[in-house]
Amino acid sequence: MDYSDYIRTIPDFPRKGILFRDITTLVGNGEVFRSAVDLFVERYRGKGISKIVGIEARGFIFGSAIAYALGIGFVPIRKKGKLPAETIEESYELEYGTDYMEIHKDAISPGERVVLFDDLIATGGTLRAAMNLIERLGGRIYEISCLIELTPLAGREKIANVPFFSVVKYDVD
Ligand code: AMP
Repeated sequence: MDYSDYIRTIPDFPRKGILFRDITTLVGNGEVFRSAVDLFVERYRGKGISKIVGIEARGFIFGSAIAYALGIGFVPIRKKGKLPAETIEESYELEYGTDYMEIHKDAISPGERVVLFDDLIATGGTLRAAMNLIERLGGRIYEISCLIELTPLAGREKIANVPFFSVVKYDVD
């Protein structure tokens, strides 16, 4: 299946010059959503992975579905101030702005093998910060996984010391 057929591109959102890759059209189609989730589920089944870590908010949509299908835990990384228990934080830069993200301190045990998931990698800043959070808790990242990669932004280089997997690649950002 060519998943790019189901991803909608919105020019100049959230600001001028950004080509926004909208996955709501993909996840809104039950058959396509299931097929895309299954692709990740089959990739990670039987690999000794104990948790999927997903990044707010679009990383939650796939991340939790993958974790459910594998029967393993899901760990949210959220924007600052949203998680109720004790957290650690990292700052990160977006293609459009700067922010802080947090994870619960007790969400991952030292040595635990996890997959880190987000919907899309652009500059890689978001995934780099999330990777730092997991590593600070002693987690071992089996792979970083995205549905979409904007290849000209070379985000992969920011997370180069960890295996990376993406499904749909755009050669214009
Ligand atoms: P980055 O940190 O630059 O890799 O940005 C990745 C994060 O920003 C992801 O959580 C994406 O959902 C979001 N993002 C960045 N650029 C785009 C884009 N062109 N279309 C959709 N989402 C984007």
